[in-house]
Amino acid sequence: MAVPQNRVTKSRRNMRRSHDALVASNPSDCPNCGELKRPHHVCGACGHYDAREVVSTATEVDLDEDAA
Ligand SMILES: [Zn+2]
Repeated sequence: MAVPQNRVTKSRRNMRRSHDALVASNPSDCPNCGELKRPHHVCGACGHYDAREVVSTATEVDLDEDAA
């Protein structure tokens, strides 16, 4: 098993971790439903992008029992 040859000091460890912080996302309001959505992504609540529906949501799907 590989073993570190030298001890990593608290200073070096913390300097390495100085770039590990997570950055907050920048959500914006969906123009259609007002839900918070990621910029440049389809709204997860209503499936709209750029003021038109691109993904149909599950609640709007009307399954016909006789078709199957
Ligand atoms: Zn929406």
